[in-house]
Amino acid sequence: MEISDRAKSIPPSITLAISAQVKEMKAAGKEIIAFGAGEPDFDTPGSISQAAIDSLLSGNTHYMPSSGTPEAREAIANKLRTENNIDCTERNISINSGAKMSINLALMSILDPGKNQEVVVPTPAWVSYKPMIELAGGTMVEVPTAVDTGFKCTPEEIEAAITPNTKSIMLNTPSNPCGTMYSPEELRAIATMLEKHPEIYILSDEIYDRLIYSNIEHLSLGSLPELKDRVITINGLSKAYAMTGWRIGYACAPEPVAKAMNTLQSQLNTCITSFCYDVIPVALGMQEEVEEMRQVFAKRAALMFELIQKWSNVECAEPTGAFYAFPKISYYFGKTSPGGAAVTNAVNFTKALLDETGVAVVPGTDFGGCGPDHIRLSFACSEDQITKGVNKVGEWLAKF
Ligand code: PMP
Repeated sequence: MEISDRAKSIPPSITLAISAQVKEMKAAGKEIIAFGAGEPDFDTPGSISQAAIDSLLSGNTHYMPSSGTPEAREAIANKLRTENNIDCTERNISINSGAKMSINLALMSILDPGKNQEVVVPTPAWVSYKPMIELAGGTMVEVPTAVDTGFKCTPEEIEAAITPNTKSIMLNTPSNPCGTMYSPEELRAIATMLEKHPEIYILSDEIYDRLIYSNIEHLSLGSLPELKDRVITINGLSKAYAMTGWRIGYACAPEPVAKAMNTLQSQLNTCITSFCYDVIPVALGMQEEVEEMRQVFAKRAALMFELIQKWSNVECAEPTGAFYAFPKISYYFGKTSPGGAAVTNAVNFTKALLDETGVAVVPGTDFGGCGPDHIRLSFACSEDQITKGVNKVGEWLAKF
């Protein structure tokens, strides 16, 4: 029996192969320092978990409306109004099983399969964007960026990728995997360019908006009056609140899009887990714990950047947001590793690094653009691990 072309078109993740090798090496008793994690190493703050327990024990264990509870929607709209200056009401909100599902539903709400519609995405970009765009029937058009501009593209570069088939552009700031973010001025310039293209949606993935380590301010494109009617802002509780396993994401979209997302959700998975709705106002009202975690990440970002700068022949943009550094390691392609492996790309670089030093990183290959010349290191781990692991890589590189 055949599986569908759609299913066959989705490539398996390279990251999973590395994780499998890490597991095997750990089981064999090897000490591994892993920089692969795309999630905070903190536990979910206790008062958030307590809110879920209370809700569960009070009997919130049944199907819920696909649009969620008015309290959860209002808490999200309030966060977006007060922190992001987005003029919205609860009618603009769709609550979904993780921001990943929010992006999927948003794409399914704006793209039509078979109409050659394109989504313009600066790359390197999060690995799931391309499969999600393609599953929704669109094509991803890359705007390649480079390390020396902090992986940011200009309005002109984005505009050059716009065609009559462009349905949306997709921006992610702060960025996974790049760890960099656009300044308000840079985003305003992009918005000015987009005013000339009023038929294009803007998907703005702001899942890392509370994890910022410089004095660059985070600007939400949805707060700009000139774009207001066509920005879909994506966010969620996974990253800032250490809640990746809870699967709570949301979108703030023009009313017809939010409504379409809720209708699609009603057929695809009904609602998020019932007792999670009560958690949303509690989490979004929490400032101190989130700020404490941010401060820890800020120290780790500075430490990792300082140590990576000591690596020979490697370029790295300063991590200013999210929890990733994305150094360029392509100088080592075509050379032999200290352990005798032929290194020709980021995948066999990563494998040799893991085999020979026990340090696990993610090859940049799947992120698109210049990604294949880079590796991604997450600093969602202790300062001790960062110091040990990053120095180990530096010593290994020096012996090439
Ligand atoms: N957007 C970006 C850029 C991400 O890095 C992630 C998680 N890796 C997500 C969205 C999805 O987050 P979640 O589904 O856990 O809410």
